[in-house]
Amino acid sequence: MIRIDLNGQVAVVTGGSSGIGLATAGLFLRAGASVAICGRDMERLAHAEAELNAQFPDAQLLARRCNVLDAGDVDAFAQAVKARFGRTDMLINNAGQGRVSTFADTSDEAWREELDLKYFSVIRPTRAFLPMLREAAGAAGHAAVVCVNSLLALQPEPHMVATSSARAGVQNLIKSLAVELAPQRVRVNSILIGIVESGQWRRRYAKEAQPGQSWEDWTAELARRKNIPLGRFGKPEEAAQALFYLATTLSSYTTGSHIDVSGGVARHV
Ligand code: NDP
Repeated sequence: MIRIDLNGQVAVVTGGSSGIGLATAGLFLRAGASVAICGRDMERLAHAEAELNAQFPDAQLLARRCNVLDAGDVDAFAQAVKARFGRTDMLINNAGQGRVSTFADTSDEAWREELDLKYFSVIRPTRAFLPMLREAAGAAGHAAVVCVNSLLALQPEPHMVATSSARAGVQNLIKSLAVELAPQRVRVNSILIGIVESGQWRRRYAKEAQPGQSWEDWTAELARRKNIPLGRFGKPEEAAQALFYLATTLSSYTTGSHIDVSGGVARHV
């Protein structure tokens, strides 16, 4: 991998206490950035903080409880980052989870919850961190927002009807944001992921695997059933590397765009 020095820069990763977010936080720390992560569950957050501090003993790391759906929490998180690091150069909107439901079994309340989660997990952190991102872009000529989105945005699945629909709307929002913020030198991009090994899938494995079935066998069987051309789930680190590319000057002439991290599942050209 190309080495890039992020000393003096600050990356904020929402949902940084598990899966893709945790791998992304590690990648930024390895490159010398100061990193702030958040999540709702204190125990998971403390565990992630300990893991990152053990891996990177000199880490400049802030871990804070914050529900991205709570405006007060998000503002307090942004203030804590400002107080600790004084700036934000890169914001990774990653927090969230998917919802398995068909049209027949999605209630109005479930629709609202899903739309709320997918939209406001991008809107609130972006709004709260934008003053710092603008400031960083003004001083250094560069700042970036990268959103973790799903291939469902372009290739909906009927068994995830609400998530697919919300993901498509968010992809549209990202394009508008990219155009609006481009004159301020804040780039906005996304990654579209297929299936990536993470806390969500570990929980499904615990619920759905046959007695004695290993994680490797369970994921390989699912990859076969889902016709993933590369024949396996993605690793959190593989999603993290795409996020890293889009967040740093490695992608300095790219905005309003996305990287497909789906192992070849996308059917469109
Ligand atoms: P994980 O469950 O491993 O991680 C999700 C992270 O988000 C955790 O840190 C979790 O912490 C945090 N989180 C969830 N909801 C909130 C919230 N409201 N406020 C703050 N933090 C929150 O899953 P992934 O790494 O897979 O998920 C990362 C992103 O990727 C999610 O947006 C997910 O929807 C998306 N995605 C993942 C796919 C996959 O196959 N893995 C497929 C498509 C999209 P806590 O629960 O403690 O708050």
